[in-house]
Amino acid sequence: APRVGVLALQGAFREHRHRLESLGARVTEVRLPTDLAGLGGLILPGGESTTMARLMDEYDLWDPMRDFHASGGALWGTCAGAILLAREVEGAPPQFGGRQRSLGLLDLTVRRNAFGRQVDSFQTSLDVRGLGAPFPAVFIRAPAFTGVGEGTAVLATHAGAAVLARQGRVLASAFHPELTGDARLHRLFLGLVQEAVPAL
Ligand code: GLN
Repeated sequence: APRVGVLALQGAFREHRHRLESLGARVTEVRLPTDLAGLGGLILPGGESTTMARLMDEYDLWDPMRDFHASGGALWGTCAGAILLAREVEGAPPQFGGRQRSLGLLDLTVRRNAFGRQVDSFQTSLDVRGLGAPFPAVFIRAPAFTGVGEGTAVLATHAGAAVLARQGRVLASAFHPELTGDARLHRLFLGLVQEAVPAL
C-alpha cells in the first residue's frame, strides 16, 4: 500500500486521512521533519495558511518539505495547502507586510480569499480535465490561481479562475475535495504517489 503523509499542524487533516485510508493508503500524520521518512506523498490540508506557515517555522519543516519534493515525493495542497505550495502569494494580511512565505514547489500565483469572505463559502460542480462526470467542490474562503506558469496545467476553472492545477507530481486545488463523498481526486493523487500517472 502507498505510504502517504498528511501535514497535521492545523486545519482539515483528519478528513484527508480518513479518505486516504478508505482507499487503502497507509497514512502518517506529519508534524516533524522525521515524520517524512519513507513517505511517497504528502497532503497539505486546508485551514489557515499564515497559521500553518508559522507552525512550519516552529517545527523547521520548510527545507525538509523542499527536500521531500526534490527526492521524488508527490505533494497535494488543498486551499490553504495550495497557498503554501505556490510560488507567489497575493493578498497576504498587512501585518505580514503584504508578503507571505511559501514553498514555491508549483509555478503558480495564488490570490488569497479570492471568492469573498466566510459568508461566501459555496459548493459547485466542476468539470475536471481527465475526469468524466463533474466533481462536487466545496470552496471555503478559497484562493484563486491568478497566474499559471508554463509548466503548470490547469485541470479545472471556476468563474474564470483556475482552481485545480498540476505540475509534475505536485497538485493544487483551491477547494476541499476531502469534504465531499467523491474520492476521484484522492485516487488521482495516489496515482501520482505510485508514479502511475504520467508527469506533464
Ligand atoms: N483563507 C484561508 C487562507 O488564506 C484558506 C481557507 C481554507 O483553507 N479553507 O489561508
